[in-house]
Order: sequence, then C-alpha cells, then structure tokens
Amino acid sequence: MKNTGGIALALVLLGTAALAQAPSGSIDDHIAAARTAAGLDYRATFVNLCLPTPPRGAGPGPAGRGAAAAPPTPDRATWYAPPFKVFDNLYWLGTRQHSSWVLQTSAGLIIIDTNFAWATGPEIIEGMNTLGLNPSDIKYVIISHAHGDHDQGAAELQKRYGAQVVMGAPDWDATLQRPASAAGGVPKRDVTVGPEGRTLKLGDVSVQIVATPGHTPGTLSYVFPVKDRGRTLMVAYSGGTLTGAFGTDAARWDEYIASQRKIAKVAADAGASVLLSNHSEYDGAYTKARLIAAPRQPGEDHPFIVGTDGVQRYFTVMAECAMASKLRAGAK
Ligand SMILES: [Zn+2]
Repeated sequence: MKNTGGIALALVLLGTAALAQAPSGSIDDHIAAARTAAGLDYRATFVNLCLPTPPRGAGPGPAGRGAAAAPPTPDRATWYAPPFKVFDNLYWLGTRQHSSWVLQTSAGLIIIDTNFAWATGPEIIEGMNTLGLNPSDIKYVIISHAHGDHDQGAAELQKRYGAQVVMGAPDWDATLQRPASAAGGVPKRDVTVGPEGRTLKLGDVSVQIVATPGHTPGTLSYVFPVKDRGRTLMVAYSGGTLTGAFGTDAARWDEYIASQRKIAKVAADAGASVLLSNHSEYDGAYTKARLIAAPRQPGEDHPFIVGTDGVQRYFTVMAECAMASKLRAGAK
C-alpha cells in the first residue's frame, strides 16, 4: 500500500513537470485541435502543415524564389485545366495545382495571383478569352506572395495590359532583386502594401488586403465580396500556407500564428463563408469549379460555400499546426 502511494505521488509529479514544460498545450494537443478543425474539409492542409515530413513541391523559402532558373514547361497533360466561372463576378483560371482568379468589377478586372510563367498564355490569357473576358480590362494583379508558382505571370500582364501589380513590401524588395532573366521577367513596382494592409477599391468592389506575414515576410491575404446568383457572399483568401523552412526561428513561427488569427478575425467580422487559396489542394478549387455547372439539388448550396464556421476552422488548422510544428522544431 505504501508503494502505491509512492507511485501515485510520482505520477502527480510527472504530470506537473509535463504541464510546466508546455503550459500552452503539447504537440499532440495542437495536432488534435487541428485535426478536429480540419474535419474532412481540410485534410491536405492538415497533412501538409501538421505532419513532420516537409511536403514536396513549392514550399516556403525566401520571397523572390522565382529568381531560380526557369524550369521547362511541364507536360500539359499533367496540369492543364479549362477556365470556369465560379461566382457571378469571380472566375477561376488555374492549373490543376495552382489557382489564379479574376474578380470582375464595374470598372475593370482584378487578377488574384498568377501562376508559373508558362501558364500565363494558356491559362490566364486564353482562359479569359474563352470566358468572354478581355485581358485589356485587367487593372490590378494582386500577388499573395513572391514565390514563382504565384507571381511569374505578373510582369507579363503588367507589360502587355498596363495592369498595376500589388504586393507586400518585403516581397517587392525580394522580387526587385531578381535578375532580368528570371522566369516571367521582373515586374516594376506599382502598389506596395505595408504591415497595416489597405483597401483596394475598383469600381463597385473593395478588396480588403490584410498583411499576413509568415509564409513569406510580405504575404497578403484578402477578404472581398462575390455574388452568387445576385446574393452577396464574403470570401476569405488565404495567401500563404507552408511553414517547412521556419526551423528554430521562434519569431517567424509566432508571426505566422498571429497572422492566421488576424485574417481569421477580419474574415469573421466580414461574415466570410467562402474560403479560397492559391493551391487547389487546400480549397478544392479545381474539383469544386467543375461542379458549378451541375444542377443544384434542393437544399444544396454553392460548392465553394463552407460557412462562417468552415472559414474559421481553416485558419484554426493553420494556427494549431504551426503551434505544434514550432514545439516540434524546438523553437523557443
Ligand atoms: Zn509560397
């Protein structure tokens, strides 16, 4: 009996020690919270952000990484996707992997993210022509962050159509250091968004641009209205995702986590019920876009609507996975 008491005391002490080490939750706690928030909707986001192995593909690195030598255009059969009208005033011009969007206003068009340089012609320009949109009407190209899979088309759209390129301040600085030979060329600085963010108004549409540093120092996220058969819905657009390169840089983890809370709050205040990303694996854009044309069954809503709770759960996945990964990395 005496021994049992000793074991019980030891267990209490062990528990106290564990709590003292991780007062704000353990790695497992954060992963569990992220898994619950992800549900079946955001499994790829959960896997890519919460599991220890860095995912393949375009990951975080210094902004301006598009300066890397231009890769050859991959086999079209592996990436081409036709364009789709997604909302009354929002169109998808993505490849199967990466998304570009066109937001239509009463005073012209806003492109949200481009893609690799090799996709500008077949996806953005030809896609707009297919949808009856005129590329000459592009007034702004908003770049969520300066990685080649989202920004290599910016310079061409600026040069050909006089579109103004919008980017976060640190990502502009990185972009302007690229050599002229960089894939897609180097855009000239037009609109710079600082840490305070800004509202970009064009005609009847205002895009709230929120600085969400983390994935890159100048990552931007957005909240803006779209219409579904005349009904206004608010979109939350997540501008940067992966955290694989943060290592033991605690400040960078904390900045990323704070950014997810910041955009989640702006999205909640706006009543955002649609979640968009620049990668189809996170928002299902390629799959969902093809469903738009299908007749809706009674009670069935627009396929991109995840509800205000669904939008919040997305940013919870990002923040909780980052908290788990920060602990795992030993960043203090
Ligand atoms: Zn990136």
